[in-house]
Amino acid sequence: MNPFTYSRPNTVDSAIDELKTEPAAKFIGGGTNLIDLMKENIEKPSRLIDINRLPLTDIVELPDGGLRLGALVTNADTAYNPLVKERYPLLSQTILAGASPQLRNMATNGGNLFQRTRCYYFYDKAMPCNKREPGSGCGAIGGYNRIHAILGTESSSPLTTDSPTACIATHPSDMCVALAALEAVVRVDGPNGERTIDFADFHRLPGDQPQYDNTLQPGEIVTAIDLPALGFAQHYDYLKLRDRASYAFALVSVAVGLELEGNTITNARIALGGVAHKPWRKPEAEQHLVGKEATADSFRPVAELLLEGAKGYGHNTFKIDLAKRAIVRALTEAVTMQKAKQQ
Ligand code: SF4
Repeated sequence: MNPFTYSRPNTVDSAIDELKTEPAAKFIGGGTNLIDLMKENIEKPSRLIDINRLPLTDIVELPDGGLRLGALVTNADTAYNPLVKERYPLLSQTILAGASPQLRNMATNGGNLFQRTRCYYFYDKAMPCNKREPGSGCGAIGGYNRIHAILGTESSSPLTTDSPTACIATHPSDMCVALAALEAVVRVDGPNGERTIDFADFHRLPGDQPQYDNTLQPGEIVTAIDLPALGFAQHYDYLKLRDRASYAFALVSVAVGLELEGNTITNARIALGGVAHKPWRKPEAEQHLVGKEATADSFRPVAELLLEGAKGYGHNTFKIDLAKRAIVRALTEAVTMQKAKQQ
């Protein structure tokens, strides 16, 4: 591990100022990913700016019926918060599907957005990796790529091991898949003041710059995540498929929310995890469900639409069919779970 200095500001403004004067510094909240990356010399910040004293630890109701989740509220406190459980059970379910209780007690909502990929080659400095070292190539293409992306991997250079831009990494977060389905809004502050970013625009596809995971500008900090009033609290599901039952990252995951009138769908959201560099949504596929009966026959064509253009790289090709089946199952469970509750 490289030497680094440490500071603990008390205000958001002073944290932003510290980062402005030392751009190689990093904010640290729970540190559940950053410390691992520092031990492996993947991340080498010159300073750790500990943000745990910042006043970003509340969950508050918004006038429009939504909720504001402070960036420093832990994942565990968010999942078990009574308002989150009641209005956004999809988010609670999704958070509890991730990591272990110990990690959820440390990890923060803001930090969850900044988890870096678990691609094996990203952590192995003996291997090429365009995300860790831009232009060096991609060890996963042509390597063991069972956990890698099947959607949104296009880059201007051919997708080969020695491509200077390619990356087929996936985003590892569970929580972010639910936040995508719920159309959350990320609140940030920085040298140019406060702004909001729609969740769909927060994470990015690799394109030709896989070293960047998100659209945050230099010096900015996430202060909160806003949940819109519509929480799909009646019909929802998070289906996470993984190699073992707990403490494993998703091979494929699906977060769904439905609104129904009788058995007719009036609103639908579907977000996929484990398949792309960011949570994957396709609003036109969701729109396809509106007005349809909530049956597997309606769900199957939508699964096909969501996976349109999917490409496997050998070991991960199984994800294409797995994702289609998972979408149908998650939607089916979202419909039947409420029926089961009522019985
Ligand atoms: Fe690096 Fe991305 Fe290739 Fe993994 S998939 S080796 S993170 S460039």
